[in-house]
Amino acid sequence: MELYELSAKETADGIRSKKFSAIEVTEACLARADKFEGNVNAIITLTADAALASAREIDARIARGESVGPLAGVPYFAKDNFCTKGTRTTCSSKILENWLPTYNASAINYMNDAGAVMMGKTNLDEFAMGSSTENSIIGPTKNPRDLGRVPGGSSGGSAASVAAGYAPIALGTDTGGSVRQPACFCGVQGMKPSYGQVSRYGILAYASSLDQVSPLARTVEDLAISMEVLARPDPHDTTCDAYDRPRFTEAIELPDLKGKKIGVFEGFESSQMDAELYGALQKTAGHCRDAGAVVEPMDLPIAVKYGVATYYVTALADASSKLACYDGMRYGSHLDGQTLNEMYVNTRTACFGEEVRRRIILGTCLLTEGFYQNYYGPALKVRQRMVDEFDELFGRFDAYILPTSPSLPYRIGMKETDPNRLYLGDIFTVPISLAGLPGINLSMGLNADGLPLSVQLVGQRYFDAELLGIASVLERVMGKPRVATPGVVEKTQKGEEAK
Ligand code: GLN
Repeated sequence: MELYELSAKETADGIRSKKFSAIEVTEACLARADKFEGNVNAIITLTADAALASAREIDARIARGESVGPLAGVPYFAKDNFCTKGTRTTCSSKILENWLPTYNASAINYMNDAGAVMMGKTNLDEFAMGSSTENSIIGPTKNPRDLGRVPGGSSGGSAASVAAGYAPIALGTDTGGSVRQPACFCGVQGMKPSYGQVSRYGILAYASSLDQVSPLARTVEDLAISMEVLARPDPHDTTCDAYDRPRFTEAIELPDLKGKKIGVFEGFESSQMDAELYGALQKTAGHCRDAGAVVEPMDLPIAVKYGVATYYVTALADASSKLACYDGMRYGSHLDGQTLNEMYVNTRTACFGEEVRRRIILGTCLLTEGFYQNYYGPALKVRQRMVDEFDELFGRFDAYILPTSPSLPYRIGMKETDPNRLYLGDIFTVPISLAGLPGINLSMGLNADGLPLSVQLVGQRYFDAELLGIASVLERVMGKPRVATPGVVEKTQKGEEAK
């Protein structure tokens, strides 16, 4: 096995036991990015020198016999909406094109304190608004498993980096599916924790009542290790819960699913989604039964009918108020005007992309007198109805299996020809976000055309550790995703198709 193919756990163990050095691993991952980045376009800023310096320091500390953190020497990328001190943080927007934060997001500090080696910042849809990583100042990221397709979004650069073997872990943010859906499209594991598990301090907000820092990796174990590093109280973020978190890495030792009740979503006709993804649900239900779980069908009528509309009303209203801070004075780009108002208009019109402008205008409208009473107010009530719908089901089930996406990865350019499909594609991820629940995209391997298949596991709020446990039992049957070779579509043989 090559060094870039190892999981974060294998990497950290190998470095600590001096089988290989942090420098060797960092160089292997940088070489991988160097080889494929021309085609994949996942990285906005590569911090190779800083990464090599951190790796050297980890090797020196190990040589001196000092104790090092659980991710010592493990390379990782962060989506370019995490503040990184002294390293450009663009949010993929012209408005922050040359912005240098003066502090690190808490999540970045936690990763660095655990010894992880920051490699750079990855591409995203501008301000995390999108599902394809096509709305970007550096242009679209391509899916490493098929360069003609999108990697999903908005954390498409992070998902592509992990799939292509640039690093075993990447950080993204998930507001309405932005980690789970790209994980699904790129064929890797990705977890959105319960709202309030991980600090949002230093994340450039899209929608504060939904945003959550979320790890991507190629194994469930690496998700658990990342959660152990990331999920903790933070006095800088009052929405980050103050309680002590469980040991996520102990939870994944669950031997089987005996005693668990698992709901399988059956509220969709097989014709309403891609047949193979529908089949993936049924296969997973079978694996759950084989592992000892009681499996029963379940439905989410309110979430399915109203989820997308409720999400877009809530998220856009949130976004319009959060993005008001980009006024041409306090942060980033500035264009002159004759009056203060003209300066705002000139800066914001020229420096926000089309999708972001559309969402700010709609969100502003939704918060004005009249629209507020007719749309925003009712959306908050429907959001509560969705929470109640999930709560009622959790009286009967420990977890649910849903699709992550109703379709396989879109072809590049579909956002121009069929934009509504992108919004509707969020149908299975946004209800989970609105209810603040944890969700994991669990990869099941590739179909005959080399495209990834997966399912979404959803747990009760704050039961993130238990959900990781269930995911790890299923991963033992389904197998762990392999690193993709961008440019080579892996045609699977009959018999070795998705498990
Ligand atoms: N696709 C969704 C949107 O465009 C989700 C994005 C996200 O989670 N950041 O809003």
